[in-house]
Amino acid sequence: MSKLGFAGGRSDRYPTAFSAEDFRANVTAVRTRIDAAAERAGRDPREVRLLPVSKTVPTDRVRAAIGAGLRRLGENKVQEAVRKNRETADLDVDWVIIGHLQTNKARDVAAFATEFQALDRLRVAEALDRRLQAAGRSLDVYVQVNTSAEDSKFGMPPQEVPAFLKALPAYASLRVRGLMTLALLTPDTARVRECFALLRALRDEARQETPDLIGDGELSMGMSGDYEIAVEEGATCVRVGQAIFGARAVPDSHYWPEG
Ligand SMILES: *Cc1c(COP(=O)(O)O)cnc(C)c1O
Repeated sequence: MSKLGFAGGRSDRYPTAFSAEDFRANVTAVRTRIDAAAERAGRDPREVRLLPVSKTVPTDRVRAAIGAGLRRLGENKVQEAVRKNRETADLDVDWVIIGHLQTNKARDVAAFATEFQALDRLRVAEALDRRLQAAGRSLDVYVQVNTSAEDSKFGMPPQEVPAFLKALPAYASLRVRGLMTLALLTPDTARVRECFALLRALRDEARQETPDLIGDGELSMGMSGDYEIAVEEGATCVRVGQAIFGARAVPDSHYWPEG
């Protein structure tokens, strides 16, 4: 077992946060580790954004988190995000969709999300763009890549990224920010690191070949169990749920089928 451990969601590793004070303490602890990982890699810690992920967390605790100063929250499922957006309408918070999207949910995302990190098909780009144009909105997007070569994972194969990026300017309301991935869920940190390094290589290649198609070349990678490795490998956004909100009872296979 590695130093970072396996992201199995045990409650002793991830105590549940209830109060604004709990949230501040957890965010500070995660932020301290992000900063240390960045410095180990010779990076400026300010390049790394922390996106707290509030999926499965009931709205009363989400409200406490917003009260602690969290202003952007990630949700995997559109319906849950729609509901929480409604239930926190009196508060100042932006919603980021980080999970696989069906085209029939594009209208909901176009209506309120500020960012969508799981773009992996042109049909979804088309559906989002149509709804966004109608709403007079635009949306920041990340292209999701399957860096672990697992059939069960969402995201496009790495070799399809260049052609996909070339097709995206046709959808004028989408602003490409960069690439996103989920690493292999394994205690073998060397294999986790390979996934993150592959995403960075794809970003570097896109910057070289088609610099106008990759936005700022952001890299969204790293979760509670592996965000320090991701930062060492160049992440500019880490998506952290359990280490901020507490362990989830729902298994990860609910969000992405496991191989
Ligand atoms: C849930 C989720 C995360 C965060 O996972 P934690 O283990 O809670 O940190 C990151 N990315 C995606 C796409 C997720 O669905």
